Amino acid sequence: MKGIFPVERFQTIRTPFYYYDTELLRQTLRAITAETSRHEGWHVHYAIKANANPKLLTIIREAGLGADCVSGGEIEACIRAGFPGSKIVYAGVGKSDWEINLGLDRDIFCFNVESIPELEVINELAAAKGKVARVAFRLNPNVGAHTHANITTGLAENKFGIAMRDMVPVIEHASQLKNVQVVGLHFHIGSQILDMGDFQALCNRINELQDELERHRIRVEHINVGGGLGIDYEHPNRVPLPDFKAYFDTYAKKLKLRSGQTLHFELGRAVVAQCGSLITRTLYIKKGAVKQFAIVDAGFPDLIRPALYQAYHKIENITSEEPMDTYDVVGPICESTDVFAKQIDLNGTKRGDLLAIRSAGAYGEIMASQYNCRQLPVGYTSDEL
Ligand SMILES: *Cc1c(COP(=O)(O)O)cnc(C)c1O
Repeated sequence: MKGIFPVERFQTIRTPFYYYDTELLRQTLRAITAETSRHEGWHVHYAIKANANPKLLTIIREAGLGADCVSGGEIEACIRAGFPGSKIVYAGVGKSDWEINLGLDRDIFCFNVESIPELEVINELAAAKGKVARVAFRLNPNVGAHTHANITTGLAENKFGIAMRDMVPVIEHASQLKNVQVVGLHFHIGSQILDMGDFQALCNRINELQDELERHRIRVEHINVGGGLGIDYEHPNRVPLPDFKAYFDTYAKKLKLRSGQTLHFELGRAVVAQCGSLITRTLYIKKGAVKQFAIVDAGFPDLIRPALYQAYHKIENITSEEPMDTYDVVGPICESTDVFAKQIDLNGTKRGDLLAIRSAGAYGEIMASQYNCRQLPVGYTSDEL
């Protein structure tokens, strides 16, 4: 499995850095488009918040995906990577005026709106430009996803979206406004979801909702079911691709679209997580009273998921064939949460060895900070090494 890394080339690069296997990314994109192209009117918008590395964005755009943005900066990053405005959707509970104006100037496909005050501001700003903004309402479906509490977004208690009972009055209110046009309904129930039953519950809820809208003679052009498909963090080698077939089949079987309605997906993690690894060098092996530590040159400023969510990432020593031994892999930062893994088995590790922290392509590089005045990690692709 070490063969997947160009270890010789790695020796000449300053660590820590991100490494992206673009062949795996392209394979993942082909698996997605193979499923969606079988259905008329299905579109995938890549959730750029998972990873905005320009080299990856270009590959994703070339595969034909659109982009799902949550800030003005992300809209700018997409435009720079060549995405047309017509393939950009813009979501988020707190859009500022300059961000809305940017979306209007770029004639983006749709604003996913999360409150009435936001709708009114979009209407006002669009009027000032003599434009009509296309909007979708993000509804809070009150469907729980069986995932980490910090990344569950579809429950009534979360800050996201508009409550179901407000749906009809909100849509009727919007139809009075001259500079917005309601084109869709948007949902998102969480992240790293592996239980297809959660997506099925969302489909059932959307079906009920569409029936109710029908009774009020309301019909929208598109349904957007958000993202959230999880990946296998335990087995990046054995299961490099998420189960796209099960995911898309769930929607094909359970969601009742009205005639002519299109269906949008916003996948982030599932697109990019497995193609990325954080490569770090072992600085010291420190033997404590009860355990031994591999102290590495990457810390939580480079990859915050373990410290933030107690997330698991598989770690491999890619420069050792020595017999297995047990280590805590820790970073150099003066915080006791700066730990990548506890009590894991690695090939016997010594100073200078390179470790690959796997499945780090999503919410890795993009969440990096300069805490402790560290340099941001660079992202390299297999195309350029
Ligand atoms: C974060 C987010 C996504 C992408 O989530 P993943 O779990 O990375 O697929 C999609 N839609 C919305 C609205 C989001 O906030």
